[in-house]
Amino acid sequence: MSTKPQYHPEAIKNVNDAVYTIDLSGKFTSVNPAGVQLTGYTIDEFLQISIAHIVAPEYMELVKQKMQEKLKKDLPTVYEIEIVTKDGKHVPVEISSRALLEKGKPIGILGVARDISERKLLERQKEIFFSLITHEIKNPLSSIKAFAELLKKYHEKTNETKPLHLASMIDEQVDKLTVLVNDFLDISRMNAGKFTLTPKRFDLKELLEKIIATYNKVSAKQRIKLQAEEQYVVDADENRIGQVVTNLLSNAVKYSPKDSSIRVSIIKEKKHVTVRVADKGPGIPKANQQNIFELFYRLTNTQQDQIKGHGLGLYICKQIITGHKGEIGVESNTKGTTFYFSLPLS
Ligand code: ADP
Repeated sequence: MSTKPQYHPEAIKNVNDAVYTIDLSGKFTSVNPAGVQLTGYTIDEFLQISIAHIVAPEYMELVKQKMQEKLKKDLPTVYEIEIVTKDGKHVPVEISSRALLEKGKPIGILGVARDISERKLLERQKEIFFSLITHEIKNPLSSIKAFAELLKKYHEKTNETKPLHLASMIDEQVDKLTVLVNDFLDISRMNAGKFTLTPKRFDLKELLEKIIATYNKVSAKQRIKLQAEEQYVVDADENRIGQVVTNLLSNAVKYSPKDSSIRVSIIKEKKHVTVRVADKGPGIPKANQQNIFELFYRLTNTQQDQIKGHGLGLYICKQIITGHKGEIGVESNTKGTTFYFSLPLS
């Protein structure tokens, strides 16, 4: 009895993807009805042509290279190209292929071409949407922020408290909106696999001092204290680590009572350095602790429920820290919450 899997010819006839075989010169030797439908060539016409007739010229080099690789080593290959149909239309397709062997020797290639027009259109729409957000929302936001800051400076000088207060409020709202737009863009990049980190060497203590000083200047709600003894040099994306720290601090400020203190500490271990942000807030119930790093997750039916948020921040923090091969977590009880993250030391 044969041990090879047997496929019913009807299965290949009825699939939605184009299934074809070519010989070593690239000439078609068979094609299923979906291939005929995709390209507009009849089966007879197909058997007269080679892939060079169908592959869009700008992709021909790539196809040749993939074919050679395939014939040398038959590992599963998936790649995207464009084909040209009989009436001249360009169609994006995803190709998966395998070598056809006879007595162990390659005699051609079996390929499957999937029409990915819809996916490509969606990707294009997404790109346009992101660039719209980036340019049409972020740029005006930076201008509004610059004007609000100018107004603040002017009224600080003239000692006019009411307009100063109004300008500060505009500034604060613009900051909130900017964080939201940036979070949205980050998540979209993460989902599209386009989120990149740019590591460089820096001192974690210096970064924390800078962020905490800014916080203590603008937030009168709680006092943030830093406990750090020495330099802690890491190779990481400084802006992104700053974003994590800012996020954890803004949560600590947001979710803990006025006048309570927030303590930030850095602890050096053998190969890691750990940053801890501890607040004296109401805590997070044990059952929810593992969910809070999920996208859009927020606690409900608690005091936190009354505080505005979108459940984006901790998800982004987790992606940034795991992207650095670090760890992020939480310890919490009814007396307070400590978020921590660790990074490998340089
Ligand atoms: P957001 O704060 O915008 O809702 P996050 O992803 O930063 O989004 O946080 C997710 C949820 O985790 C919050 O909605 C809140 O319920 C809970 N949380 C985060 N930080 C704290 C904290 N320091 N103390 C108590 N709960 C917190």
